[in-house]
Amino acid sequence: MSSIDDLRALDARYTMPTYMRTSVEFVHGEGARLWDSDGKEYLDFFAGLSVHNAGHAHPAIVAAIAEQAATFMGSSNLFLSEPALRLARRLSESSLGGKAFLCNSGTEANECAIKLARKHAHSRGIAEPQIVSLDGGFHGRTIGALAATPRLADESRFGPLPKGFVAVARDDAEALDQAIDERTAAVIIEPIQGESGIFPIAGDVLLAARAACDRTGALLVFDEIQAGMGRTGSLWAYEQLEVTPDAITMGKALGGGLPVGAVVTSPAFGEVFEPGDHGSTFAGGPVAARAALAALDVLADDDLLAGVLAAGELFLAGLRGLQAVSEVRGRGLMIGVTLATGLDAPAARDRSLEAGLVLNCPGPGMLRFLPPLVVGAAEVDEALAILGRSLTIA
Ligand SMILES: *Cc1c(COP(=O)(O)O)cnc(C)c1O
Repeated sequence: MSSIDDLRALDARYTMPTYMRTSVEFVHGEGARLWDSDGKEYLDFFAGLSVHNAGHAHPAIVAAIAEQAATFMGSSNLFLSEPALRLARRLSESSLGGKAFLCNSGTEANECAIKLARKHAHSRGIAEPQIVSLDGGFHGRTIGALAATPRLADESRFGPLPKGFVAVARDDAEALDQAIDERTAAVIIEPIQGESGIFPIAGDVLLAARAACDRTGALLVFDEIQAGMGRTGSLWAYEQLEVTPDAITMGKALGGGLPVGAVVTSPAFGEVFEPGDHGSTFAGGPVAARAALAALDVLADDDLLAGVLAAGELFLAGLRGLQAVSEVRGRGLMIGVTLATGLDAPAARDRSLEAGLVLNCPGPGMLRFLPPLVVGAAEVDEALAILGRSLTIA
C-alpha cells in the first residue's frame, strides 16, 4: 500500500494538474459512509458530486454490475441489446415520453442536445442557429458544452470557441425573453444551478423561457445532470416546477456510479436524428445500462423521494439556525449556503473533513451539500453538529 505522500508524488509526476485535490484517499464506502486509507470514517455529504445518490456499494447495484460483467460486456450499438433498450424505455416513461440517446457522461449528453437542437433548427430553415444559456450555468467542459458555460468559455485560453452561443443573466425573465428569437435553436437551463453554488432559477424565468420557446419553435432543454435522479425530492427536478422542457439531459447519478449519460426528448423531437447523425462506442453498454436500471429501481421510489424532501427540510432548517450561515438555498438534498462575511469557506470545508464530514466548496464563501439520498434525520443531525463546530466565526 502506498502512503498519501507516495500518491501525491505520483499525482504531481504523472497526471495533468487539472484538479485542486485534497490529500485524502477514500478506499471504501457503504451507504452514506466513507473510509480513508488510514481507516478513518467519514459522513459523505458530497456523494462524488451527486453520483452516488443510492449510497455507496448499494447491494442491488453491485449485484447487477457483477452479474452483467461476468455474463457479457457488450458488442456494439450496431446490434440490439436488451439492457440499453429497457433503460431507454424507463427514462422515456419516467419523464417526457419521447426517445432517448444514451451516452457516457453529462457533457456528452449536452453535446448531443446541442447537435439535435441545431439539426432541428436547420430543418426549420435557420442557417445560423443559436443556443441560449444562463450566466452561472454549467454544462460541461468539451468544446460545445464549454461554449454554453459562460463562466468557463474563455476565448483567450480555449478559443476559437464555436459560434452560436448566447449568455443571458440568470434572474432576468425579460432579458431572456428578448434573447430568444427566430434564430434560437435551444435554450439550455439548469433548473437548479449546481456548480455555481446551488441557485434555483426563479419560476418567472422558467415560464419566460417556456413561452419564448413555444413562440419561436426553439427547444427548451433542462440540464438535470446534477438535479435529476431524485436529488431534489422528485425523480426529475422539473416535476416540481411549473414548466416542462422539450428535452432533458441526464448524467451523474444515472449510472449508479458508472459513467452513463442520456438525452430524453418529448415525442415531438424523437425523430430529429437519422442513422449516422450521432453515436458513441461505449454508449448503452450492458454493464452500464444494468447499473443505471438498478439505480433507477432504488431512486424512483416514492418512500425514498419523500425521505429526500423530509431530510432536506430538516437540513435546511438546521442550516438556517447556524449563526455562521447568511443564506441557505436549495431543494430536497441539493443544498448550498453562503457563509457570513469574513468566513473562509475552504478552511471550513477542511475543518469539516478533519472532523469527518465530506462536503464541497463551489466558490468563494459558499459550501455545497449533496449527500446520498439514503440519509435520514440521524445523519442530518450529525452533519449539523459537525458544521456547528467547524463554522466558527474567526
Ligand atoms: C457535472 C455536470 C455536467 C457535466 O457532466 P460530466 O459527466 O462531468 O461530463 C453538466 N451539467 C451539469 C449541470 C453538471 O452538474
